[in-house]
This record gives sequence, structure tokens and C-alpha cells, in this order.
Amino acid sequence: MVRIVVGIAMVWVAVVGNGGGLVSAEDQARQAGSTAAVPGADAPQPPDDGKLKIIVFGAHPDDAEIRAGGTARLWADLGHHVHFVSMTNGDIGHWQYYGPQLAQRRFQEVTEAAKLLGTTSSVLDIHDGELVPSLENRRIVTRYIRRWKADIVIAHRTNDYHPDHRYTGVLVQDSAYMVTVPFFCPEVPYLRDNPVFLSSYDGFQRPNPFRPDIVVAIDRVIDQKVEALLKMESQFVEGGANGYRNPALDEAAKELRRRAAAEGFRRRFADIANRCRDRLIELYGEEEGRKVQYAEAFEICEYGRQPSREDIKRLFPFIGSSP
Ligand SMILES: [Zn+2]
Repeated sequence: MVRIVVGIAMVWVAVVGNGGGLVSAEDQARQAGSTAAVPGADAPQPPDDGKLKIIVFGAHPDDAEIRAGGTARLWADLGHHVHFVSMTNGDIGHWQYYGPQLAQRRFQEVTEAAKLLGTTSSVLDIHDGELVPSLENRRIVTRYIRRWKADIVIAHRTNDYHPDHRYTGVLVQDSAYMVTVPFFCPEVPYLRDNPVFLSSYDGFQRPNPFRPDIVVAIDRVIDQKVEALLKMESQFVEGGANGYRNPALDEAAKELRRRAAAEGFRRRFADIANRCRDRLIELYGEEEGRKVQYAEAFEICEYGRQPSREDIKRLFPFIGSSP
């Protein structure tokens, strides 16, 4: 688990007597051989054991888990390595309180969820609601993808109701080419093989609706996924980021809310299966495709490597088997 401190000022200074030019504070740190001041240069790395490496970016501490938690668990069950990164710390996601105390609680919640999903997690210390597609954040995302040596990168699409979701999508797409450019962030080795970039499912229609290129049956792991999401009590039991005041909840009322949240999640992932039924049948065959109850879906980004049918089989080895 890693937390990083962001907000290092991009101070541009003229270097006099050194050939001139402009050097950022980060560049100065790099030239001095230090990565301590370079956010993301110490991002987690998976073991080099020939297994797949997947990194999922969400805007808040729950987005990666909601959108890719089932597929992550299927990968983890086969020994593949999945890392979730929340781009913000979630510190305004509650009706009653906000700030470091909430950020710490949400970090603990994703840590608990990760244990059930077989994943690992990072939460960046950027304020919830304040993510911007800055150069500094592009560099951080690039370093995380490189350090993870990702085969697959998943993030939000860039059309979305929430600015943090949108800008997470933009930052990851901005990094889709830059991860292969050696002299961009040279302190972290560049990727010779461009990963496959995928967008996670959403229902937004403009400027273009989501296209379900890859649909994964998650029936086998739906119980673990829902259990993991219910670890996020601050969101799905107490809730209310937009000011809705939940009544004080005693334990019995909380239990009712947990059950309602679990049913809501099952409906949500069943809805994805139904909306993507045609593609499920293409990928799993008529009989099995019709049987699938719960799904997660992904769209292949135009940037990054374009996977062939064989690539998709290799990267999603559970697709096509009985749900
Ligand atoms: Zn979110």
C-alpha cells in the first residue's frame, strides 16, 4: 500500500551559466539523482513472474472496485497481478464530515476491499473534487503505469457526470502514448510494449455511447465483489456525498441498508449483462452467453495497443468458459 504526497510546486527557474533554458523542480531533482521528490517514482511494482499485470485507475476510493472488481478477482484467482489506483483521496464523500479523517477511513475501506478481491491499492493524496488534468498528474499516471509494467490499463471514459471521473480518463489517455516515450519521465524506465487501454462501463450517451468490446461474466465472483463493495460503509451504508442527510443508523437499520445496497449492486451488474447480451453471446457462445447473470464491460481505447482476438483470449483467459 502506498500513499504519496502530491502538490509539489512546479517552479520554473532559469538556469544561468548552465547553457540556459528552463528546468522544473522535478527535473532538478532528477538531475541530482533523487527520486524522492518525484511523485510516483516509487509506485508499487508486481513480481516479474510472467503473469499478467493490470492497473485500474478510478477517480475515488470505490470506482475501480465497482467497475472492475469482479474481473480483478477472476484475474487474481489465476495468479495475475491487479493494482487499483484512486486518483483522489475521497475526502468530501460523506454528508456529515470531510477532511483527513474521512480520507483515512476511505483508504482503510479500499484496503479491506482489496483483501477480498486479491488486489493491491494505492490512494493518491489529491483532494476529492479537485483533480485536474495537469502535467504533474500526467507524469504521476505515466510513472504508475510504467512501474506496474502494465499489460492492461483500465480507467473511466472521458464523458462522465463527475469531473474527477472525466479527468481520470483524460489523464490516462494522455499517458497512453507517453508511457512509451523514453525521455518523458526518464527516471522510470519506459514501456517498450504499449499496454492495451480500456475504458470501464458507463451509461452516458454524448458525444458517443459506450461500446462493449469486452464483456466479462462475473457470476463466479459476484458474492466476493459485493462483499468487497460493502466494506465501503462510508459510501454505501452511510452515503450522501451531495448533502443528503441519512438519519442516524442503529445496527439493525445499518443491516437493512447493507442488504439494500447488496441488492442494488446485483441489479446494477445484471443490468450490464442484459445491456451487453449480444456481445456476451458472441464471446461465450449462444448457450453460455444467455446464462450470464452478472457482467462487467470494457471498451477498447483507440490509443495504446489494439488487441487481436488472440490477444483478448490471452489477456482475459476466463472469457468463453462457463460463467
Ligand atoms: Zn467516483
